Amino acid sequence: MATNFAKELIATPGKKVKLGEWDPEDTLGWEKDHKMKASLAKSLDKLEKLQYLLYAEHKRALLVVLQGLDAAGKDGTIRHVMSGVNPQGCRVTSFKKPTSEELTHDFLWRVHKAAPPIGDIGIFNRSHYEDVLVVRVHNLAPKEVWSRRYDEINHFERMLEENNVTILKFFLHISKDEQKQRFQQRIDDKDRQWKISEADFAERKYWGDYTKAYEAALTNCSTKHAPWYVIPSNKKWFRNLAVSHIIVETLESLHMKFPAPTVDVSKIKLV
Ligand code: AMP
Ligand code: MG
Repeated sequence: MATNFAKELIATPGKKVKLGEWDPEDTLGWEKDHKMKASLAKSLDKLEKLQYLLYAEHKRALLVVLQGLDAAGKDGTIRHVMSGVNPQGCRVTSFKKPTSEELTHDFLWRVHKAAPPIGDIGIFNRSHYEDVLVVRVHNLAPKEVWSRRYDEINHFERMLEENNVTILKFFLHISKDEQKQRFQQRIDDKDRQWKISEADFAERKYWGDYTKAYEAALTNCSTKHAPWYVIPSNKKWFRNLAVSHIIVETLESLHMKFPAPTVDVSKIKLV
């Protein structure tokens, strides 16, 4: 099945995003069958080869931003989609509550430091978007501060893009019910109980506020140079399929090439 995942799931730049119009159960007609598994395996295989090429060409970097509410599957996406990626050439940065040192700087300071160098893939598990999400929902900064951040983010991402960083941003979209089920699984499964935090449950009360904050972030910051994709994520297998396909489609569109050898290989005689 030829699905253009990027085209189907992009939050079109300039268009208002209403999350109610995006079904978290959607699978674009795919089913959890052998065809899907084969397609996922093929795409992970391609990703491995494309990363090798990215590293060898050494001209650009890829930045993957993952956002989503608690239990949306940010960790799981990294684990599955990046399973074939060479750790040498890939770095994951998880953004937590800013430290006291980070708070003495502008909000992008810690983020810029984590931007991937050319040749590398950088993955952000949460990101600078927290500064217009949790910060907005909980009034951690005044409105006049967080409201100008959308422009600041767009400028920052444009600057990265102009400096050869290709940016892909994925919002992992789950329903409130699915989150409840995943929290319940964490409660029931001894091996997952460590993942539970009091805050996660408390945050459910703010579901509506987070939805508004995400809609504003996706509407204001899905740009041609750094698009947002809304990934229906109730089905983990579809989430993995969609994210891996979009990364592969994007890397393929860069038409990367191996550098020419620096030596005349025909003249080399190994002794
Ligand atoms: P986790 O991803 O489960 O490890 O949790 C990280 C926590 O850090 C989440 O509750 C985030 O909302 C919080 N966090 C991340 N970035 C920020 C930020 N810029 N300001 C406030 N809280 C943040
Ligand atoms: Mg958490």
